[in-house]
Amino acid sequence: MKIKLGLIFLFILINSFYAQKSSVQIKVDDEEVLLPAMDKYGLSFIPVKSLEEILGGQTLYNSSAKKIEIKFPSYIVKFTLNNQFMVVTSQKDGKQEIIQIPVATLPGKDDILIPLRYTAGILSKSSGRKITLPGVEEMIAESKEESRETEVEIKNEIPEEENKEEVEIAENEKNVTTKENVNYDISSIRFDVKANGTLIRLNSSKTFNKFSQSISDGKLFLNIVGLTLNEDKINSTEPSGLIKKISAKNQESNSRIEFLLDEGYSTSEAIKEKNGKELLITVHNKIFSGTASAKDIERWKFDTIILDAGHGGKDPGAIGINGAKEKDINLAITLKLGELIEKNLEDVKVIYTRASDKFVELYKRGKIANEKNGNLFISIHCNSTKQKPTHLNGFEVYLLRPGRTREAIEIAQMENSVIKYEDNPKRYQELTDENFILVTMAHSSFMKYSENFADLLTKQFEGNNDLQSGGVKQAGFYVLVGASMPSVLVESGYLSNKKNAAYLSSKEGQSDVAESVFNAIKKFKENYDKDLNGK
Ligand SMILES: [Zn+2]
Repeated sequence: MKIKLGLIFLFILINSFYAQKSSVQIKVDDEEVLLPAMDKYGLSFIPVKSLEEILGGQTLYNSSAKKIEIKFPSYIVKFTLNNQFMVVTSQKDGKQEIIQIPVATLPGKDDILIPLRYTAGILSKSSGRKITLPGVEEMIAESKEESRETEVEIKNEIPEEENKEEVEIAENEKNVTTKENVNYDISSIRFDVKANGTLIRLNSSKTFNKFSQSISDGKLFLNIVGLTLNEDKINSTEPSGLIKKISAKNQESNSRIEFLLDEGYSTSEAIKEKNGKELLITVHNKIFSGTASAKDIERWKFDTIILDAGHGGKDPGAIGINGAKEKDINLAITLKLGELIEKNLEDVKVIYTRASDKFVELYKRGKIANEKNGNLFISIHCNSTKQKPTHLNGFEVYLLRPGRTREAIEIAQMENSVIKYEDNPKRYQELTDENFILVTMAHSSFMKYSENFADLLTKQFEGNNDLQSGGVKQAGFYVLVGASMPSVLVESGYLSNKKNAAYLSSKEGQSDVAESVFNAIKKFKENYDKDLNGK
């Protein structure tokens, strides 16, 4: 019992330290008035209802919505509990102005407590009564007919202690602090342009709880509940990709961003990331929806294949049981495959991430692919196991997705480990399941095509006696992350398997693999062209 009492006492002590009941003397017109107040953060918070008589307004408290309004002849001023916005509505034309104050309102008894210092200016203007705060000789009381653009001085942080001598309300522009100094929840927006659309990233200091997005009439509407936007910063961000114009606005209890979209958009989706503090919205284009315009078809027609021979230069890749280096086999297959494409698919250009024995960083391979606007990215490798020899054998195709089996994860780790040869391995974000959400979102509209190609490819090996088809698997390969196009990674066979190693080291074996991949590409292109033309 003693402990309990002690705790209660401590609670009261702490509470009174942070919020103390007091009073504040102000002048309304020329009359001295004493208002009940609560001191917190060194500020005087006053109950809205206490202003009723002295300013000649009428208050209405809505207990379920936790809102209070004070109605003056020309304006209605509305406050919401625990909220940093005051809404001023003109009685004349219904025009609304939302003003942000640096601290949130506090609960009162069937009332809301507002920080006097930050609301006095607006209350003066809205009521037409001159409010003078203590320590300040002259206060503003602009005519209610005048422009309402003047803002109350806004401080960046909650003041530790209020120095009453310094209290002043901004009257002219010199004293108006820019909105950027206020602590907004959402202060930045970024756009990533991908082959399949545009990714919008919003970062917040608080967690995104409720949000919704919808597309209509060429506009994407995003509503975020309970978070404030840095309107100026967001509105001045340069739009790119499918986004043509941005218009951000704080509203009473939510914030809203309108994105004007370029023609050629199709769908949109939104997810939370980074512990809920990043909101990602994708706006997909029509490229793979079968409704692309003639211009898009021209732009996206299947005319470029990126061939990526794994490893190279100082990075040998796996070493075969027969001493063969993976990098050499990869390059031989890749060059043969490129030759077949160039010879047989006249309108398709081949881009090699490397055409000789040289080292190319993983991220650069994806970059090359994107810069050359590839329609398909094929990374060619050979598999291996720690234990040699192995009975494991065969051809496997990998899609970029979280690894589901121990073997798949190990293979991805092995292939990814080549970043140790790179100058800045830290550039690669670890492919945790969480990061995969992002990656797969960026890849979502062409994942269908990656799967499609992987299926065609694995079928090519079904009748191959030297390399059995190991089927389509999935794992997180860094080299596939960067390529914004349908992409697969091929493990041609096991260099730790005697039979596979001998076959893959032979000219015949290399040609066989190249031919099988080529046949799959040919079929894939046929399907792709049909889809793109919407047939
Ligand atoms: Zn490899």
